[in-house]
Amino acid sequence: MNADLQRLTELEKIDREASRLTEEVAGLPKRVAAIEAKLAEHKAAVEKAKARIKGNETTRRQMEADIKGFQEKIAKYRSQSSSVKTNDEYRALMHEVEFAEKQISGCEDKILELMIGLENDEKALKVAEAELKTESADVEKEKADARVRTAEDEKLLAGLKEQRATIRTMVNDSALAHYDRVMRQRKSALAEARDQKCMACFVMVRPQTWQEIRTNEQIITCNSCGRILYFDPANEVAAPEPARKKKARAAEVETEPEQAEQETTPTSTQ
Ligand SMILES: [Zn+2]
Repeated sequence: MNADLQRLTELEKIDREASRLTEEVAGLPKRVAAIEAKLAEHKAAVEKAKARIKGNETTRRQMEADIKGFQEKIAKYRSQSSSVKTNDEYRALMHEVEFAEKQISGCEDKILELMIGLENDEKALKVAEAELKTESADVEKEKADARVRTAEDEKLLAGLKEQRATIRTMVNDSALAHYDRVMRQRKSALAEARDQKCMACFVMVRPQTWQEIRTNEQIITCNSCGRILYFDPANEVAAPEPARKKKARAAEVETEPEQAEQETTPTSTQ
């Protein structure tokens, strides 16, 4: 195989792996941020439950104060009733007493409702607090995992960067410039030629070019997509191959270029 062709093949592998790792590193903080947003939701649920309990207690104290006020009024009316002169005055006072007693009864009903509500609020708070605790632990673990993964990826990337720089110095300048241009535009710079076709864009190559590609001795580019073409004798159509293997290999090279992009996107969704 042509030395440049061989090196460009290696370079493309390195570039693909580097871009996969770069995307992974970029995706990790987003994943952590998504989990932290969920954590904030649970924190808000805890605060809401606490606020409801507090509100419940305030209302209850208000009701108790109201009851006390009405009881004082009743006591006052009763003491006044012993010194009234007329039946009308007496009836008026008893009417006030009756009204105050009704108010007290209403407050007591409300207090009972509040007590039942409080039980539910306290249960809700316990659930929210338990969820928050689990979630907090998950976030910490996720953050730690992301830190470890990022450090590993960055180490790998540094290694790839070195390998990349070394290989690039060994490739002919014009071939390298062509590689860079196609890589930038199409996310892949090389394509297998099979059956006289570019396996990336499926455009036929001329018979003479096909013969040249088959030697793998020159840098030959696809007239249609610009990718550098190489020939893999293992995929020669004439050579009978188990159908399954052939199919798998075809699937590998056909992921160009949009599918290839999707492949490198981290699969984790929020
Ligand atoms: Zn092509």
